[in-house]
Amino acid sequence: MTSDPDCIFCKIIAGDIPSFKVYEDDKTLAFMDINPGNPGHVLVVPKAHSPNIFEVPLDDMAVAMVTVQKVARAVRATLDPFGLNIVQANGPGAAQSVQHVHWHVLPRAEGDKLKLNWGLVPGDMDAIGALAEQLRAAV
Ligand code: AMP
Ligand code: ZN
Repeated sequence: MTSDPDCIFCKIIAGDIPSFKVYEDDKTLAFMDINPGNPGHVLVVPKAHSPNIFEVPLDDMAVAMVTVQKVARAVRATLDPFGLNIVQANGPGAAQSVQHVHWHVLPRAEGDKLKLNWGLVPGDMDAIGALAEQLRAAV
């Protein structure tokens, strides 16, 4: 399995540094974020090291999504949060601080100040359509 000796999440996966594990299977691990946005904030990672969404192999991506759903359901069953976001950051512009692809399972509290919601402001339909065309060609 791919591992990066300098990666803190690879060290957690290897058991070289401690974590609060929530779920583990052959290919994925879920553990508590030690800087939680809200109580119950969990991280889900594929065990194989990939730096980001662009490079993660499809199989690792798929198994990670299955674990994300399991953990989201466990968080809902345990904490009954006001809402729940799945967040995944790529690159410094998205504030990615650990270069091992991961998904935040982030329960929301009513009135919390987490800045994840951009509101529903209608866009320019011509611009949206033009970008959709560019993206269709790039997929
Ligand atoms: P991101 O900023 O999206 O790359 O998320 C990385 C997350 O990893 C942050 O929310 C950190 O709090 C969390 N984190 C960093 N080191 C550890 C660790 N040793 N155990 C648990 N969570 C960690
Ligand atoms: Zn890693």
